[in-house]
Amino acid sequence: RLYNEVQDLKGNIRVYCRIRPFLPGQSKKRTTVEYIGENGELVISNPSKQGKDSHRLFKLNKVFGPAATQEEVFLDTQPLIRSVLDGYNVCIFAYGQTGSGKTYTMSGPNMTSQEDWGVNYRALHDLFQISQNRKSSISYEVGVQMVEIYNEQVRDLLSSDGPHRRLGIWSTTQPNGLAVPDASMHAVTSTADVLELMRIGLMNRAVGATALNERSSRSHSVLTIHVYGMDLETGAVLRGNLHLVDLAGSERVDRSEATGERLREAQHINKSLSALGDVIFSLAQKSQHVPYRNSKLTQVLQSSLGGQAKTLMFVQLNPDVDSYSETISTLKFAERVS
Ligand code: ADP
Ligand code: MG
Repeated sequence: RLYNEVQDLKGNIRVYCRIRPFLPGQSKKRTTVEYIGENGELVISNPSKQGKDSHRLFKLNKVFGPAATQEEVFLDTQPLIRSVLDGYNVCIFAYGQTGSGKTYTMSGPNMTSQEDWGVNYRALHDLFQISQNRKSSISYEVGVQMVEIYNEQVRDLLSSDGPHRRLGIWSTTQPNGLAVPDASMHAVTSTADVLELMRIGLMNRAVGATALNERSSRSHSVLTIHVYGMDLETGAVLRGNLHLVDLAGSERVDRSEATGERLREAQHINKSLSALGDVIFSLAQKSQHVPYRNSKLTQVLQSSLGGQAKTLMFVQLNPDVDSYSETISTLKFAERVS
């Protein structure tokens, strides 16, 4: 194994919390974040309570405060990502209410500035650098897929047949037994190739949506990076894949207000996020039966959840007191799976 650091990780499931800063114009708001510890402790205060019931302590693997940079966040993620080159399957999620910074963490605020790059661009950049610079006999090929899951339907965001094609989930089974979604696979050899594909994917994601932001917060987007390595001396082959998932907003929708399409979306999101929670929970419990079949999301990600696979969940928080109850429910989700 090349990257032994990964084996030092205790379990196969890690949960990092990231708290976004107040945005310009929001600075007079009060924060619920009372304390951030060095070892993943987080204390949240309840604005409407006093005394000992007013604070709750949570314990995560790590907490990134509002000042953490994209680079710092990536550095803690890098060993996991590099293990893909050793043939591990890795799944990285961003979970949280809309506006809590999921897209910021996974992709960044925009695609132009390298400093702002989120985990996905940095991951690919890093994988290319290592696979190309390493003085080893292993030759790597990298393929990318990008799908969106909306109302329990999977759409290929990179299909040349247009973005409306709906996908069945599996048509191909790789020799190592991994099922791959029937989405188009694109060979990439540089970070520039990836940036271009992701630009196309984002454009396709907007098609059919009344407003891009609305739609993107109601659907899960899954970027899958397949790595195929062959040792030119021994002929040995390894495969690893990395799933980078920007989940739909986890906020509870008020049943009395949501109707029609909005209610349907909310029910689908609810169902798939709880299915994801159930899968990770049963993996953490090492239970015999893992309920992958309960949602499209967990089916798409099955190869990267469980077995030897490594899972990292970013739980994203908005520090605003107005988000108190969403913050608590996000942290309860984290607590259950960690
Ligand atoms: P989500 O994808 O969860 O809906 P976004 O990633 O779109 O949330 O973030 C909401 C807003 O907050 C955006 O304007 C984004 O640029 C900003 N933001 C999120 N996280 C950070 C951060 N760590 N630093 C600076 N701005 C951030
Ligand atoms: Mg988003």
